[in-house]
Amino acid sequence: MAYRTIKGMSDIYGDEMRIWAYVEATMRSYFSARLYEEIRTPIVEYTELFTRSIGESSDIVSKEMYTFVDRGERSLTMRPEGTASVIRAIIENSLVAKRDPLKLFYMGPMFRAERPQKGRKRQFYQCGVEMVGDLTAINDAEVIRDAVQFVDEVGIPKDTLSVKINTLGCSECRTAFIETLKKYFKNDFDALCEDCHFRYDKNVLRIFDCKNKDCRGIIDKAPKVTDNVCPQCERDFAVVQEELTRFQVPFVVDKDIVRGLDYYTGVVFELTSSALGAQDALGAGGRYDNLMAECGGPKKSAVGFAFGMERMMMCLGNVIIPDMSLAKTVYVAYGDNEYASDARDIAAQCETNGIATYGDYEGRSLKSQMKRANKFGFRWMIILNVDEWKEGTVTIKDLAAEDDGQVIVAQETVAEKIEELMGN
Ligand code: AMP
Repeated sequence: MAYRTIKGMSDIYGDEMRIWAYVEATMRSYFSARLYEEIRTPIVEYTELFTRSIGESSDIVSKEMYTFVDRGERSLTMRPEGTASVIRAIIENSLVAKRDPLKLFYMGPMFRAERPQKGRKRQFYQCGVEMVGDLTAINDAEVIRDAVQFVDEVGIPKDTLSVKINTLGCSECRTAFIETLKKYFKNDFDALCEDCHFRYDKNVLRIFDCKNKDCRGIIDKAPKVTDNVCPQCERDFAVVQEELTRFQVPFVVDKDIVRGLDYYTGVVFELTSSALGAQDALGAGGRYDNLMAECGGPKKSAVGFAFGMERMMMCLGNVIIPDMSLAKTVYVAYGDNEYASDARDIAAQCETNGIATYGDYEGRSLKSQMKRANKFGFRWMIILNVDEWKEGTVTIKDLAAEDDGQVIVAQETVAEKIEELMGN
């Protein structure tokens, strides 16, 4: 019986894994430099956390969650996104008391039972940030800027990106707008699909998520939330636009962005890339001011975003990623099996100095070790030739050199010398 991965889930290895490691390392360095701290939360949470925060009428909760009952006890769900878990963790561990604003970033797998296609998986990875505290519209702009600069730092070409922003209004404007919408959709109620009837009852705003062609005709003519927000939300939206202009982040206002998760309030945004196909959303986020309090925490504002990491990789296309796995790596070979343990000592000397080593130590001939070093793509070799070893020296060989690329060095200085050569 040959086992295969589950549909919509993939193994990541080899060159692709190296690109992942590069994107993850870039995220760590970019956000750490801006005082964000990394957080990891469990992959499984109590189901209510997601149903309450993302919303029962959302596509994620109503159709896409992997939910199971744990040993006949409570209902658990494989996390479909990161924000709810991070907010739960902030409250449970009293993290806001330690810093304001608190700035966190995360990366890891998410699970949604969607129909798999290019750029859409059932286990996919998101990296994201959450900022929580007594925030203003300037913080919203800062987070949008960080999102845009981060993808630039990763190497995704700027000219393929679009940044779209919108405002969904605060709770007060939302309550009034829901009434306006209910009146509007009531006129065409019978023409709407069954899902929309459910959405009408549960949360009329979710009708905007419908992809049904007949519904779209009605939805496209519906009043826009952006045109129905209170003066304060209007001012906040203007401040975000001014700040983005000041930060030189190009953006457009797109009144159709409503986001498929219930917790958003205020400014929302999406980044799309022309390098992606039909699934062109690279990342999205926005302000969510009620989630902390709704989850039992202090009343604090929050803003964040998440990027789909597979989609980031797709956008990287031909961008050259440094091969970090072999950059500071050396193949240690020896001319006689009797010296295998000395070769291991030399390897240990290198590793103590931060140079990774590879050696097979299985008694292969020197010729076969050279062949393997070439085949595996190593550039640097340390060779313990019997005569040299007896004289207290070893050879360092640069396999990429046009001449024989060899230098003979004292055994105790090998790590230092190879580091020097690698730097040149
Ligand atoms: P969301 O949490 O739905 O706002 O999604 C944020 C980002 O995650 C999207 O812009 C996509 O890049 C990515 N994403 C969402 N769902 C999937 C999926 N099923 N497969 C791959 N990436 C996804």
